[in-house]
Amino acid sequence: MAQLRADTVRLRKLTGRPIDLDASLDWDCSSRGWHCCVDKAIPLTPYDVVRLRHSTGKTSQQLIDDGRITFQWRGGLMAAWLSQVPYERKHRACVFYEELTNTDIARIRDEDPDRFASFPPNVQRAADSQSGGSYRVAGLCGVHTNRPEACRAFPFMLKPDWADAPDQPQVEEVHRCGTCALRTKTTARQIMLDNGLDQFWRPAQAWREIKLYLVSRGMAYANDPKYRALPLDVEPRTELWANCFNPDALAAVTEGFPDQWQRDTDLEGDDRILRLVLNEVLDRTDALVAQSGVAIDDLGLIDESPAQRPDLDELLDPSRPVLPVIAPAA
Ligand code: SF4
Repeated sequence: MAQLRADTVRLRKLTGRPIDLDASLDWDCSSRGWHCCVDKAIPLTPYDVVRLRHSTGKTSQQLIDDGRITFQWRGGLMAAWLSQVPYERKHRACVFYEELTNTDIARIRDEDPDRFASFPPNVQRAADSQSGGSYRVAGLCGVHTNRPEACRAFPFMLKPDWADAPDQPQVEEVHRCGTCALRTKTTARQIMLDNGLDQFWRPAQAWREIKLYLVSRGMAYANDPKYRALPLDVEPRTELWANCFNPDALAAVTEGFPDQWQRDTDLEGDDRILRLVLNEVLDRTDALVAQSGVAIDDLGLIDESPAQRPDLDELLDPSRPVLPVIAPAA
């Protein structure tokens, strides 16, 4: 059983280099995924999973069953991750990572012209290489259109406490990926905007609030002496957390949105599915607490007031600005 720390879901430990959002920096993506997709653990939010279904053509249940999504109790909370596969001799790469050499790219040009056309010009040029040898050119993402939030922000991360300290740098650089060598003038704000993060930050913030609520209602799995867990077996506790990352386990999703995961994208449908999943976990938690007969003041961390049930309509409202990076939707 994991040890719960009081701040587990309140604040991720900050490990990177604080950066001003609008400070000029040299950076561009080189398509060399061995910097960002190797030896990096990629955490998932429930929204990440809803989106991943579209790029894989699989339901969330299939992604879990075939081991592409894995779970782990961490600090009393269940976390979901993209699984990794062996890479070179001592490394691990994301399960969706694909590395291409110049000979691979020449073959794709002949066999799959549409795919070849989707490659950036610097990758396409490698098909005409006269070097005579084989060398790696690009590390590509097999789920690029619907890649998770953590991948979109790389090599930066929006600090989760940015709203509490608006006068401090709100972004940190969490990795040095090497593509600063490309010397394209940009800013952390622009990089994040270019990667469509506005679709991901509101769901991510909703997920943080839900984790706080679950902890407050005794749903964490912890042996911290300061933590008062809801009396509940490990199986239903695990299932409740795991279902946050498994929309296709919910009948309202499979009946209301049959085969929706087979579409390339469906942002409106994904938003509605996410609301169904998150409301279900909140309703189920409230029902379990009510059935237990334990007062909410006697659950969660000692000395902390019970959390309010998150208002999903407010948190997911597209007109809500996600400061400091994203302005409200017009
Ligand atoms: S999901 Fe895509 S971008 Fe993210 S680590 Fe995996 S291969 Fe890389």
